[in-house]
Amino acid sequence: MRLVTASANPAKVAEIAAILEPAGVDLEPRPATVPDVIEDADTLEGNARLKAVAIAEAVGRAAVADDTGLEVDALDGAPGVHSARFAGDERDEAANVAKLLRDLEVRGVGSARDRRARFRTVALVRWPDGLEVIAHGVVEGHIAAEPRGNQGFGYDPVFVPDEGDGRTFAEMEASEKHAISHRGRAFRTLAALLGAEGGEPSEDRSPPS
Ligand code: IMP
Repeated sequence: MRLVTASANPAKVAEIAAILEPAGVDLEPRPATVPDVIEDADTLEGNARLKAVAIAEAVGRAAVADDTGLEVDALDGAPGVHSARFAGDERDEAANVAKLLRDLEVRGVGSARDRRARFRTVALVRWPDGLEVIAHGVVEGHIAAEPRGNQGFGYDPVFVPDEGDGRTFAEMEASEKHAISHRGRAFRTLAALLGAEGGEPSEDRSPPS
């Protein structure tokens, strides 16, 4: 099976390819001619669908897209679907992390127990005829008091997964992170749903909602 990817981020595409290719799914790069999609849906699934539909319609073949959000309980689920632009339209990752820590400080949220958070990813394959396969991935954890580590990207320096040893995602090797991460889980589930070994999906294709 071949899927055209909606992501133009080479690191992310490599991460996704490492999961899908052993399952018999070959990824094609996003065509440069397809313009960026405005991600203005109010859910992760909605944004993943906007991206996948844009590619599937442009190339006439199945496309894969994903969308991720960080949900912080003490901030009522924020930044959530707004994670990329939490501190503004510049999508400045350091500014996003700084705003997250500031917002928690303003609310006086100190202990790890009160800083519960999770990354959530929706991964979605869309065929030009409108059929879809959707998979979800979640990793639970908490927000660290200050950034630690220099691996990864985005909110990794302040996210401490429950399943780890107290290190942030940015203090882990990529393989350690991906073994438990939201995106790793979503794409491993997607690979399983796609039927692996290049077979067409049979029972999990569902009409768009
Ligand atoms: P996207 O949907 O992958 O574009 O991610 C939306 C936002 O979440 C961006 O601000 C990313 O930096 C952040 N994000 C997505 N995945 C991760 C991750 O694995 N670690 C840290 N931040 C992430």
